[in-house]
Amino acid sequence: MRKPIIAGNWKMNKTKAEALAFVEAVAQAIPSTDVVDAAVCVPTIYLDAMMTATAGTNLKIGAQNMHQKDAGAFTAETSPLMLVDLKVPYVVLGHSERRQYFGETDTTVNEKTLAAFAHGLTPIVCVGEYLEERENGTTNAVVEKQTLAALFGLTAEQVAQTVIAYEPVWAIGTGKVATNEQANETCGYIRQVIARVYGNEAAQAVRIQYGGSVTPDTIGALMSESDIDGALVGGASLVADSFLALLNGVN
Ligand code: 13P
Repeated sequence: MRKPIIAGNWKMNKTKAEALAFVEAVAQAIPSTDVVDAAVCVPTIYLDAMMTATAGTNLKIGAQNMHQKDAGAFTAETSPLMLVDLKVPYVVLGHSERRQYFGETDTTVNEKTLAAFAHGLTPIVCVGEYLEERENGTTNAVVEKQTLAALFGLTAEQVAQTVIAYEPVWAIGTGKVATNEQANETCGYIRQVIARVYGNEAAQAVRIQYGGSVTPDTIGALMSESDIDGALVGGASLVADSFLALLNGVN
């Protein structure tokens, strides 16, 4: 059985005081990690403080991006070694906003995914189609290409440990949530692709989240679908009560 994973993606939001207040309100109330893995992916500048504030709790911390190289002349970038140094367990890679606004490509997402495993970080790899692609029937082709590119060069064991976030771009921050059937169908397709290339064991183990306008009201039905193993949540992860409601909505 795959354990659900709910991850908040705070994007570029919150002051440090707000981030710490969130932890205070949430960390002790997180359900058991036997039931659900809970993480918030926070702005890089807060990673250190957030790791300290959540130490010993069931609330895990993730970065929203990292560079693929260990060190060098890459102004303003964050290296995997820096995340390891802080003991940050998760890193979001290839979010559509990084692809759309910051030149992230399938190649860089792959390099970063390989770097994550080389350093013992768990990547949350994002894939997803634009509205035009959904409408012209190329969703499966788009997510297949993105998924295989991101995972290229990983072992089946590493693929099994990867978290994939299927986030249709048209559903992000729009209030336009994909139907449960659409979300499940595409997550299922991604699993089939993984089975074909990495084998059934990896495909059955890999956790695939849905992301895009998920709220406490919609999480329950999404989670009851066969191929959805959690959610990557933007807006609804910013408020403590809402984040807790998402976690409690998993079962
Ligand atoms: P929203 O939940 O705000 O639509 O954002 C989804 C997302 O991009 C999470 O990574």
